[in-house]
Amino acid sequence: MLRILGKIHRIGIVTEPIPTIDESALTEVGEQLRDHVGEQFGGSLAIREVDAGSCNGCELEIQALNNSYYSIERFGVHFVASPRHADMLLVTGPVSRHMEAALRSVYDATPEPKLVIAVGRCGADGGEFGTSYASRGAVSNVIPVDGIIYGCPPTPLDLMRGILQAIAKRQQYSTDNQADKIA
Ligand code: SF4
Repeated sequence: MLRILGKIHRIGIVTEPIPTIDESALTEVGEQLRDHVGEQFGGSLAIREVDAGSCNGCELEIQALNNSYYSIERFGVHFVASPRHADMLLVTGPVSRHMEAALRSVYDATPEPKLVIAVGRCGADGGEFGTSYASRGAVSNVIPVDGIIYGCPPTPLDLMRGILQAIAKRQQYSTDNQADKIA
């Protein structure tokens, strides 16, 4: 026991330092997200996350959105277990051939109007894994995609920004469409 304590004392802390997080950016993005979710989704945006073949790096960052620090639920964003209850699909890639049919089923089961965001470099274009006998590569090779969040993996703040951009873009699109109909 003393030997172990001595070793701990000698070596000290060897883990990486905790990265600094831009708290003001988190608050700013979170508040914008809450406003858009309030206007477009009655205060509650439901997301179904789909792992279509990732290495799980992207999943770890997505899961961090629900920890006590990011706590994305306080901005009205919830993760749901069924695509039938979802407004948005957050899909990590690359899409493995094993997951291709399942991803199509999830897409079909999600009610309209739905938004699909491809997450990470692999979701965007296949990344390291590309396209092969085992991989369809980009999410957009399998289902229609409305937005991409780049990164390997993207940080939780990147994810929040990407979700915000996608719903803001949709709001702009419907405003423009309404204006065209009135004109
Ligand atoms: S983008 Fe990076 S972290 Fe995400 S699945 Fe691909 S290799 Fe993994």
